[in-house]
Amino acid sequence: MPLPRPRTRFAPSPNGLLHLGHAFAAVVAHDLARTGGGEFLLRIEDIDGTRSRPELVAEILADLAWLELGWDGAVVRQSDRLASYAAAAERLRAIGLLYPCHCTRADIVAAGAAQGPDGLIYPGTCRGRDVDPMGAAWRLDMARAVALAGALMWDDAIAGPQIATPEIFGDVVLVRKEAPASYHLAATLDDAADGITLVTRGTDLFAASHLHRLLQALLDLPVPRWHHHPLLVEPDGRKLAKRRGSPALADRRRAGQDGLALADALRAHRFPTGLSLGSGVVWAK
Ligand code: GLU
Repeated sequence: MPLPRPRTRFAPSPNGLLHLGHAFAAVVAHDLARTGGGEFLLRIEDIDGTRSRPELVAEILADLAWLELGWDGAVVRQSDRLASYAAAAERLRAIGLLYPCHCTRADIVAAGAAQGPDGLIYPGTCRGRDVDPMGAAWRLDMARAVALAGALMWDDAIAGPQIATPEIFGDVVLVRKEAPASYHLAATLDDAADGITLVTRGTDLFAASHLHRLLQALLDLPVPRWHHHPLLVEPDGRKLAKRRGSPALADRRRAGQDGLALADALRAHRFPTGLSLGSGVVWAK
């Protein structure tokens, strides 16, 4: 059977200006959609109240236009979808899979928590306790969730079939104290709502897909395929970051550089001196 036309998305968080790593990710998502005769969507992940800077959205749109990476349909903003995140959290709460937690990061460190793919693995202090839900974060009871969902698989276009191991996250936060949903919950719901059939993103988020696959099972969502591409890295192997001086796309744009030529260079894996594609190594226990 022929594969369905891919529907992909680029999902930047407007926490800072985009850099070359973002441009590469956008080129991958755009080209996989276009070469497959499919669609490419743009989603702004703007619900991180402490870091999100709405004034940067216009810069992101201008960067993509400059790179000649046109998207289909209206720009999706997570801030317009808070009700769907709340409804999904309520559904998980109603079947006893979420519990409130007031622990601070310091509490979790003090409990001797181990490092997971996405921060510290919660030691379970509030699980089963009578905790005031007001102002709490809500965590997934991972053991119960995994028991309910059973064995799960997912498929990565580069890495191949994967047995889902969401338990590597422990009792992950799905509703944050200061935000209506965690990245994991919001992105999983949005990919389903937008009919994304091929989730493209960097290998730094490879482990997240184990958890997203579990959330799809718990919430009866369709299961896409994934394509985790290697990241652009600096000579020391670390991923590009604005804070380490990677020039912003907006600076190149304003300096009159040719955006299409830059996108084409990224397509051909011709990177500026000192940058290369990482090995695609994913988080390992
Ligand atoms: N918003 C995420 C980021 O900027 C991308 C998430 C995703 O592609 O699933 O890193």
